[in-house]
Amino acid sequence: MKSGSDPDFYMIPDSFKQDLLNRIDVVDVVGRYVKLKKGGANYIGLCPFHGEKTPSFSVSPAKQFYHCFGCGAHGNAIGFLMAYGGMGYVDAVKDLAASCGMQVPEERPRSPEEAARKEREPDLYAVMEKAMEFYRAELKKSPRAIDYLKGRGLTGEIAARFRIGYAPDDWQGLKNAFTEYSSSSLVEAGLVVEADGKRYDRFRDRIMFPILNARGAVIGFGGRVLDKGEPKYLNSPETPLFEKGREVYGLVQARDPIRHAGRALVVEGYMDVVALAQFDVGYAVATLGTATSAVHVSKLLRLADELVFSFDGDAAGRKAAWRALEVSLPLASDNKPIRFLFLPEGEDPDTFIRRHGKDAFEAQVRQADTLSQFLIAHLRSECDLATPEGRARFVSMAKPYIEKMAAPALKVQLVNQIGRLAELSPEDTQRSLDPAHRPAYRRAPAVKREPPSSHEWKLLSRVAAYPSLSADINIDLVSPSLEEAQALRELCGYLAAIDRASKASHALVIEHFQNSTHADVLFEAQGYALDLKESEDESRGFVHYTLRSLEIERKRQTLKDLEKRLERGQLSRDEHLRYGKMISEVRALEQHLVEDARRASK
Ligand SMILES: [Zn+2]
Repeated sequence: MKSGSDPDFYMIPDSFKQDLLNRIDVVDVVGRYVKLKKGGANYIGLCPFHGEKTPSFSVSPAKQFYHCFGCGAHGNAIGFLMAYGGMGYVDAVKDLAASCGMQVPEERPRSPEEAARKEREPDLYAVMEKAMEFYRAELKKSPRAIDYLKGRGLTGEIAARFRIGYAPDDWQGLKNAFTEYSSSSLVEAGLVVEADGKRYDRFRDRIMFPILNARGAVIGFGGRVLDKGEPKYLNSPETPLFEKGREVYGLVQARDPIRHAGRALVVEGYMDVVALAQFDVGYAVATLGTATSAVHVSKLLRLADELVFSFDGDAAGRKAAWRALEVSLPLASDNKPIRFLFLPEGEDPDTFIRRHGKDAFEAQVRQADTLSQFLIAHLRSECDLATPEGRARFVSMAKPYIEKMAAPALKVQLVNQIGRLAELSPEDTQRSLDPAHRPAYRRAPAVKREPPSSHEWKLLSRVAAYPSLSADINIDLVSPSLEEAQALRELCGYLAAIDRASKASHALVIEHFQNSTHADVLFEAQGYALDLKESEDESRGFVHYTLRSLEIERKRQTLKDLEKRLERGQLSRDEHLRYGKMISEVRALEQHLVEDARRASK
């Protein structure tokens, strides 16, 4: 997806982007995924977008963008998360905002209903908190619920840590907690169902697992039946507070253990999370009755060095695992492996750890399939590698997955392995599985040619290096026909509207030019500027010299035109005067130019 076609692309206000790009550091963002070394003013590393052995990938802390001299990959921190992390524009911005504690504003004016709902959010949080306290108090009063939890091996301490409660077997149990049972907040929070003019509690006779957001506030509940009864698990519906594809159960409790173990384990149910925690495996979380989403995966990869998915070994579990693999491919990186744990048939993490204990469970986790093992095993199971047709099918099935994959070193390994299994030569493997990664974000053309020699290009590259210099540019002097001149005009126009001296100005320019027809030439100039060995003052001197040269060229051209008409006796009196004046002007300019050059050579 091209960022420009993302309907949300323009929804985030420029002032916010500017603040954000000022606060974050592109070196940190890229450094999460790519090993970078200081090299002069920039950081350099192996380009994650094309296979290479010697680094041609630069990240500039001063200019806040990255640029690859090998393949032309080019962008700011937002672009990196999109191109490498496979995120959408808005998610990339939200990701960065979260990393520095900023809240992404909504530029679109809210409808009155939305505004009213937003206003009531604090109210909804309070409602959820109150409901949780009610359910927890009810648990203490219900020997049957307590026996159930004890029967599953849980101590009171773990129940308290996860704030587990019990929803009584009562159609309007929450009346005991809320004097205003008729309040619309209860319906909006998903606690009460309204049907045929009647209201009743959504959760009845269930063990209640509160779902907390990253800040620890209750945003939803999962309810499990005590014995038989359907459905076994019931979740809160999507509400203004609760968006299933974004949240994971148990993250607040698991955060420290994940950092400590360096590993996050994703399981299928709340009981799995709680039972594992009971057995001192604290790094597990669960998705909430939805398939694994990219938001889940990137959220967890931010905390953990390794992500392990645990699914049932049955057909449904394998299908869910495959879906998790598809989502993970663009997000996995070479230093953050993703693995898949399939427990023996009929076991889930809860039953397994209770039966076999922590050590046996963690031994299983350590032996979990790697992403590549799982991918290849799955594809092999669908193709008969003993026949040419089967091998061809194998390669064509593998191709889309290879293309989605972000981890460059792993990708090379996988391509080679698939080639061997399909009995392809290395050249044929390369040709069939083209491992070139095509990010959604725009890049500069791979710079193989000499940069243009025009004055306009020289000006463009200096303004790209030092945006403040745009104030010195007299745009009327540049030729309107050259592409680099058009890019310069657009660049100066944009820079006049923002804070040119800000560290984020380069990164903002990249944002602005994403949809410009002059993006290629501008990004090339930015890449050129990375290696420019000139101070700002030197560049300013050079810009003035170039502008003077341009001015001389312009005036000489006018003189030539006047001369032609003079020869034909076509000049008016005024033009005669102008001609004479211009000759002395050009002379003076040329004299300045000589002095400039002498000064510069000193
Ligand atoms: Zn590259």
